[in-house]
Order: sequence, then C-alpha cells, then structure tokens
Amino acid sequence: MPPETQFQVAVESIEPFDVLGKSADELRAWMTSIGESAYRGAQLYHALYRERRFDFAAMSNLPVELRERLAREARIGLPKVVRRYTSADGSVRYLLALPGNGSAAGAGARVEAVFMPSEGRQTICISSQAGCAVDCHFCLTAQLGLIRNLTAGEIVGQVLLALEDHRESLVPRTNVVLMGQGEPLLNYEPVLSAVRLMLDQRGMRLAPRHVTLSTSGIVPGIDRLGQEKIRPKLAVSLNASSDEQRDAIMPINRKYPLGMLLEACRRYPEWITFEYVLLGGFNDTDEDARRVARLLSGLHAKVNLIPWNPGELPYRAPELDRIEEFRCILVEKGQLAFVRYSRGRDIAAACGQLALIETAGIAAPPEALPI
Ligand code: SF4
Repeated sequence: MPPETQFQVAVESIEPFDVLGKSADELRAWMTSIGESAYRGAQLYHALYRERRFDFAAMSNLPVELRERLAREARIGLPKVVRRYTSADGSVRYLLALPGNGSAAGAGARVEAVFMPSEGRQTICISSQAGCAVDCHFCLTAQLGLIRNLTAGEIVGQVLLALEDHRESLVPRTNVVLMGQGEPLLNYEPVLSAVRLMLDQRGMRLAPRHVTLSTSGIVPGIDRLGQEKIRPKLAVSLNASSDEQRDAIMPINRKYPLGMLLEACRRYPEWITFEYVLLGGFNDTDEDARRVARLLSGLHAKVNLIPWNPGELPYRAPELDRIEEFRCILVEKGQLAFVRYSRGRDIAAACGQLALIETAGIAAPPEALPI
C-alpha cells in the first residue's frame, strides 16, 4: 500500500495516527494527506526529534489550531516507564511498556533499556524486539522466546525517552547500542528506520560511529547491512573459538557456522567489533585465545572481551588473571583486544541480563529496588 493510502486509512479510522518513528518525508506526506501544508510535517519532525517535545500542546513551532487538531487525530507513541532502577554507578535501567504496534496482541509488551553515564558521554542500550527467538544459552532474554518485533517508533522512542529523562545532565556525545532484548537483524526494516532517524542531522544528529548494532551472526542481515548507504557500526557476538563450542551456547551457529559468518564479516565494508563473553572454564583457555586470533586473522576487527556476570544462569565468571592472559595472547597475535566490564551489575542491567523480573517472571535481585 503506498504511504499516502496508509495515512488516509489511519485518518479515516478512529485510531490516532502515531507520528513517532516516521521520517521527515513521511510526516510531510501525512500532513498533506490531512489537508495541511507539507512544511508542517517538517516542523513536527523538528519538534519531535530535535526538541524532544512529546506533547503536541508544547510544540510552540506549530499554530495552536494545528496542535489541537494533532491532539485529536494523532498520538506520540513513546514507551511508558513502568519501573526505573538506579545503579550505584549512575546507570538507570528502565522497564518499559510499549504503546502497541497497531495489533491487539501488540499492546502492553514490555522491554528494557539502560542509560549509562560516563566521562564525556552517555550510552543508551536499547531493545529491538520484545523477547528473542535466537536462544543463546547465556542470555536471559532467550527464556522469553520472541514476543514480537518492535516498530521503528518503539525503538527510537527508547533513546528519546532516556535522553529526556536526563535532560539536565546530558553531555554532547550520545552512544546508542542495539544490545538489549532481541536480534536486530531479524527485525531489519524497523531497526534501520530507527537508526536512520537517530543519524539524521536534521533531527537527533547522532554520529554513525556512535551507534552500534550487535548481532548474534545473522549472515543475510550482515550482507544486507553492508549495502546500506547509512548504517550503524557492526558488532558480532562471537563467544566461542570453534563451531563445536559455539553450537553448544548459540544454536544460531548451526544455521550460520563460523566459516560462513566470518566470510560475511570479510565481505563487510567496515571494521567490525567482535564481542566475546568470557565464560569461566568454558571458552577462556589459552588455546581458545589462539583459535580466536586465527579465526579473525586478516579481518579489520577488534575484540571486546566481556567477563561473564554471575547471575541466574549456570555459568561462572572467569578468573581475573585468565581475562588478562586471554587478552595478551590476542594482542601478541596482532589482534586489537580490550576488556569491557558491564555497567549496572547491581540492577541486573549487565550484558545478557536484560529480560527479567516482571517480563520473565524471574525474581528481582534484592538491590534492584525501583525508585
Ligand atoms: S544474546 Fe541477543 S540474540 Fe542471543 S538470545 Fe539474547 S537477545 Fe537474542
């Protein structure tokens, strides 16, 4: 259905038109379809994404009559904060209720996002799906299964909401990582639409090098992303040094085994970050490090080593000296390698923990008290 016909259907039905997640062109076309001037769409876009106005009444760049009309005929489908957990390190984890994707089944799904302040920047970790079908064994989100895909508005809305919640303390640089619930490359179009909104210099104005999409290794999605004109940075969740090992913790490896995955990474036109969650006694030996270096040899890549956070799942953290020895072996073999410690451990916001409590029915950690 052409976009204008879609808009017409929305106008004719009693369902308000959700303006969030729409591009400047889409908002211009929608304004035209309801008999307003196209430039009003550009003004609405500016108010939403540049000024972060989430109430039509507060959009002072629009005439009062239009604001009143928008309040009757449109909505701004920002996720709602159900709970907010603050870590001792300043990170904030949000449990969010989604406004809905237009289907009866879509309303009320919940996801999580995390805001992490640090020296000179804030990083926002967002979800691309409610739940996830990929079934990585070290990830709590996997226990939910896939509930549904998020819309572009629900994805970009997590960033807008977290920024607005910290309006007074923001620093100029914002990083966004698609590392929350879901496999972004299995919800490709809405994710890319949301990323284009984040990177639009007329709107949110994030830098392409500051937005990172993390994948479990969906090969057709990696190839497709490599063809995009506007794209985020790519991170691949590696987590194993052999197919046998990866099969055991990431069933997606049976569909896209390491050889196929790394071939796609070699075709990819930019540097890639490989994430490697170090699971004590499982994938953290010297031999693992040497195998990882061989696998990645010749690739334009860096490796982020992420020590496992002990929690609900039956894995253990690596010994401290193992982490450093593993990194040193990679560096000796010519690989760029860094250790990344997860933020927000005390509020269960660390890597692989974003699927808990109210969404998954798992008991909240005692420190994770809502404020
Ligand atoms: S690690 Fe990512 S891809 Fe794997 S199950 Fe969890 S959310 Fe899905």
